[in-house]
Amino acid sequence: MPKGSNNRLGGRLPKFLSRYSTPKAKQDIKKLFAQWILVEVRDAGHKKNLICPCGRSGLRYLCFIRNVETKIQTYVGSTCIRHFCNKMVPKLLKLLESLSMQGVTGKYLGKAGKFHKFQLKDKAKVVKYYKLLSSFFSKLPVYRQNGVWEMRVASSKSRVPKDKLRPGYWYNLKLGPVTRTGINNKGRPALMFFADGIRSSRG
Ligand SMILES: [Zn+2]
Repeated sequence: MPKGSNNRLGGRLPKFLSRYSTPKAKQDIKKLFAQWILVEVRDAGHKKNLICPCGRSGLRYLCFIRNVETKIQTYVGSTCIRHFCNKMVPKLLKLLESLSMQGVTGKYLGKAGKFHKFQLKDKAKVVKYYKLLSSFFSKLPVYRQNGVWEMRVASSKSRVPKDKLRPGYWYNLKLGPVTRTGINNKGRPALMFFADGIRSSRG
C-alpha cells in the first residue's frame, strides 16, 4: 500500500466495516481489515448502480468479504479488495475482466453434458494464467486433456443458440465468470464460465 493512503483508509469504507466488526478492531485500521476475508468473487454482469461502501459506483465484480468474528458478509469492489488480500487478487480480477470484455478464442469440440467444450490455444490467457487461477479456485473449467487445453462453458439458450455452434470452427467467447463457495464456505471457491456472447473467429 503506498504511503499517504492512510487518509483514504480513514474514510467511508472503514467506517462502514467497523459497524460490522468487533469493538477491538474499530480503533485500529490494520486490525479492522485483518478481520475480513475474501470468500467469493461474483460477476455482477451489466447491472448498474452497484456501489462499493467506499462510494465508487459502476462495479462489475463484487468481492464478497466476511468478518471472521461477527460472520457478517458484505461486498466491496475490485479496487477496495486489495486492502484485504494478497496482490494476487487484483491480478485475478484483471484476468476475469479481460475474459468478459475481450473474450477467449476456442475451437468448438461439442457438448459435454450441460456444457460446451472448446479447445484453447496454448497462448490463451486462461492457459497462461492457469497457475494463478488454480491457486485461487478449487475447481476450474480449464484443463488439459490428451495434451490439449480445453475449457468448459455453460450457456443459456438466449446467449448461445445450439445450432450456432459447429464442431471444428473457432469462436470468440465472452465469458462471464461465476464463482461458488463450498457448502461449508471454508474451502476455496470453484470457478465456472458462462457464455455471455459469442461470435465466429478465424482462429
Ligand atoms: Zn471501494
